[in-house]
Amino acid sequence: MLTIDGSTGEGGGQILRSSLALSLCLGQPFRIVNIRSRRRNPGLGRQHLVAVQAAAEVGRAEVTGAGPGSGEITFAPRGVWPGDYRFSIGSAGSTGLVLQTVLPALLTAKGPTRLVLEGGTHNPHAPPFEALGRAFLPLIGRMGASVSVTLARYGFYPAGGGRIEVRIDPVECLRPVELDERGRVLAVRGSAAVADLPAHIAEREARVLAAELGLDPAAVQARRIAPAVGPGNVVTVVVESEHVTEVFTGFGRRGVPAERVASDVAGSVKGYLDAGVPVGEHLADQLLLPIALTGGGSFVTQRPTLHATTNALVIERFTGARIRFDPAGPSAWRVTHVRASAAR
Ligand code: ATP
Repeated sequence: MLTIDGSTGEGGGQILRSSLALSLCLGQPFRIVNIRSRRRNPGLGRQHLVAVQAAAEVGRAEVTGAGPGSGEITFAPRGVWPGDYRFSIGSAGSTGLVLQTVLPALLTAKGPTRLVLEGGTHNPHAPPFEALGRAFLPLIGRMGASVSVTLARYGFYPAGGGRIEVRIDPVECLRPVELDERGRVLAVRGSAAVADLPAHIAEREARVLAAELGLDPAAVQARRIAPAVGPGNVVTVVVESEHVTEVFTGFGRRGVPAERVASDVAGSVKGYLDAGVPVGEHLADQLLLPIALTGGGSFVTQRPTLHATTNALVIERFTGARIRFDPAGPSAWRVTHVRASAAR
C-alpha cells in the first residue's frame, strides 16, 4: 500500500485531502502517517474527519484509524459512486475543503451528483464560496465537466451553520487546459459585507478598497447579510479578465481594524495585477490536482508557495507524473504537468 508522510513540506491538511481525492480518482489505497504534524493542533480536526467520511461514502471505502485527533489512517476505496450526498461538518469547518476532497473523482463519475455541504462557507484559510463559484469551477467547466454551486446560507467562522449546494454533471474524460495568459482586465469589483455587525465596518472597508484600487465608488458595494447564524465580515474583490476570473477575500477579525482588512485584500489584488499572471496563489492550489487528472496542460501563476509545492509532491507520489514550476517572468511561474511516461 502506498504510504504518504503527512509531515512532508508544509505538513498540513492539504496532504490528506489531496491523498483522499487522488485515491478515489485512481482507485489507489493508501496509508497516511503524521497527519498535519506541522500544525499547532496536529491530527484529524473536525473538517478533516468529515473529509475522510465524505470520501469514504463516495468511494464505499474501507477506512481504519479515523477519529478525532488521529495521526494515521488507511483508506481503500472500492470505486466511485455518484448520487445524492449530504455532509455536515457540524462546526465552521470549511465546506469548500470538503468539496475539494470529493469533487475530482465525481467529475468523471458514471452519473451526476448533488451535494449538500453544511459548515463554514466563508472561512479564513480556505476557499470561500465566491472563489469556488466565480474562479475555480468555471475552469473545471473548461475541462469539460459542469459544476454549479449555490449559497443557501452564509456560514462564517467561528459560528458556521452555512450551507452550499453543488450539482456535478460529469464528463467521461477531463480535457487539458492551457491558462498562460490573463488577457485584458475587463472589470474589478469589490464588496464588503457584514452579518450581525455594525454597517460602518463594511462602509469603511468599501471606502478603503475603492481608494487603494483606484475604483469608482459605484464598483464597490457595502452590504449587510441577513439572516446569519453568527457574526461575520468578508471583503471580496473580483477581477474579471478576458481569459479568467480571479477572486480575492479577507475576513474581519476582532482586534484588526476594518481598514487593515480591506487594505490587505487590496494588496493581494495589486500583487496579482502587477504580476500579470492569470492564476493567483490560491487558485493555483485548487488547479494543481484537476490539471494532473487531465494528464496535461499548464498555467501561469505567482511565486509558488510551500502549500503548492507540497501538494505537487503528493500528486507526483500518486500519479508518477511530474509537476514543474518554471520561472516565466519577473513575478510569474509556469506550472506544467508532465505525464508519467515522459517524467521517467
Ligand atoms: P490545515 O492543516 O489547517 O487543514 P491546510 O494546509 O489544509 O491546513 P491551508 O494551507 O490553510 O490549509 O489552505 C487550505 C486551502 O484553502 C488551500 O487550497 C488554499 O489555497 C485555500 N485558501 C486559503 N485561503 C484562501 C483564499 N483566501 N481564497 C481562496 N482559497 C484559499
